[in-house]
Formats: sequence, C-alpha cells, structure tokens
Amino acid sequence: MRIDLHTHSNRSDGTDSPADLVRNARAAGLDVVALTDHDHTVGWDEAVETAADVGIGLVRGIEISTTFQGHSVHLLGYEFDQHDGALNDELERVRQGRDQRIPTMLAKLAEQGYPITMEDLTRHSRDAAASGRPHFADALVEKYPARFPDRDAVFDGWLNDGGLAYVKRYSAPLQTAIELIKAAGGLAVVAHPWSSKRSRVLTRDVFAALVDAGLDGIEVDHNDHDEATRVELRSIANELDLVVTGSSDYHGTGKKADFFLGCNTTHPDEYERLFGR
Ligand code: AMP
Ligand code: ZN
Ligand code: FE
Ligand code: FE
Repeated sequence: MRIDLHTHSNRSDGTDSPADLVRNARAAGLDVVALTDHDHTVGWDEAVETAADVGIGLVRGIEISTTFQGHSVHLLGYEFDQHDGALNDELERVRQGRDQRIPTMLAKLAEQGYPITMEDLTRHSRDAAASGRPHFADALVEKYPARFPDRDAVFDGWLNDGGLAYVKRYSAPLQTAIELIKAAGGLAVVAHPWSSKRSRVLTRDVFAALVDAGLDGIEVDHNDHDEATRVELRSIANELDLVVTGSSDYHGTGKKADFFLGCNTTHPDEYERLFGR
C-alpha cells in the first residue's frame, strides 16, 4: 500500500487538473492519494469521480493557511463536512485575504520596474479558486524570463515573506482552524511544521496544547524536513500519540522535480490509525 496524503491540483497552485492528478497518482503506483488544495474543496468531486474510474483510493482534503504567534502554519484537514457553515465562513475569509492583496502586489511589482497586469496573472490562475504567489511567479517568469528564469528566482527576495513584492494576508488562527475541522467531523494534521522556510515556533509543548484542541497528526516525512528533523518530529509524535504522515506536496510541473507523487508516503498502519480515529 503506497499512500500520499498531500497534493495540489490547478484548483489552487498545482498544474494538473484534479482528474489528471488522480490519473498521474495511479500511474505513479499509488494506492491512495489525498487532494489537498489550498483553502478550498472545489476539486473534490472531479477527483472522487476519476478515482472511482481508475481504481485508486481518494482522500478528500484541504491545506488551510493558518497563523500561530505571527508565523505561517499550514494545516491539512481530511474528510470533513464540505458544507459545514462555520468552516466555510472561515475559509471564505482566508480566500478573500488572498484576493485582497493582489492589487497591492501588482503595484509593488510595477514600482520595482516589473509590471504585470491582472490579465497576465489570471492567465496563470484561471483554473484556481484560490490565487497564490506561485501564480504571480509564473506570470513574471513568462514576461521577464531573463530576470526571472524560474519560480524560485521570483520567490527569492521578491515573493518570500518580507520580499519586495510580499504582502501579508489574512490567515486563520491555528487552534481555530483545528477546532473547525474537528467540529466538521474531519481529521487535522499539521503540514511540514519544521520546513526549512519556517521557524520552529511549534515546539513539543505547543504540539501538546494542539492535541487538546483536537490535533490528530504531524506530517513528518516531507521534502522540506531533513533526516534529523524527521527523527525529532517523529519522537514528539510518538510521545504525544499523534499519527505520523508522509507525503509529496506534489504541485505538478510547478514545483521542484523532487516533489514527485509518492516521494514520501504514509505508512499503512499510520493511515489506519488516522482514519480509525
Ligand atoms: P501563498 O499560498 O500565496 O501564500 O503562496 C505560498 C505557496 O507557494 C506555498 O504553499 C508553496 O506551494 C509555494 N511556494 C513557496 N515557495 C516556492 C518556491 N520557491 N517555488 C515554487 N513554489 C513555492
Ligand atoms: Zn502550494
Ligand atoms: Fe504547505
Ligand atoms: Fe502543500
């Protein structure tokens, strides 16, 4: 059983349609794949339908942009009620935050001598229900290839937190997001908590408090975690009786090549433990 619990389609900042993502997951030899687009669930139906056709297990998920003590934390939610009112209200606030920052980001880029238009941007985000910084990156790579050869070149110094075109946006408070997922009948797993791009605000004691809020697991096996980081996170998870997951965070051709489907997987026992909760 090969299980990958974190992937993105072009309904957020991935490049595959939900159907293609599911077909590619099957071709990559996965038995179970979770679709976890940023901040919404519009890809679920298409993914579920295709999964039934090609014969692969499909977990319906989301990756919510949250904040803890001023730091960005990504929260994976699985198999919750898609129509839960309180959860949808909060997700709508997060998505509005994504859209509201767009004019300011466009203005900052123009100020720095690299103007792009709303049309340039929507050419890259037209399939997405939630716009993201990778769409800005793609528009800049297209328009200014000499200055920005790839997405990394745009994130570096420009789109990364504190960069020249960076604009802070609303994120859901982490504990609130966990509670909303749980109240909607779902499971909550913190995504790549000690990613090299994040500071380690989520200490063991913080994780213990998040367990009280309903947290179910920690994504330990992720390409942003080196071996030592994984060992340390695994021991915290074991101590707190949290499920350990592993996943690719696949974004299609839009992310680095080493984030391929199934590059990290979740052990079947941990998968059983998560969905047995
Ligand atoms: P946003 O959702 O607008 O906050 O943008 C953050 C997203 O950009 C993350 O979830 C990643 O998927 C993506 N990202 C971050 N750094 C990079 C990078 N260097 N290259 C490509 N995508 C990135
Ligand atoms: Zn993403
Ligand atoms: Fe993430
Ligand atoms: Fe992700």
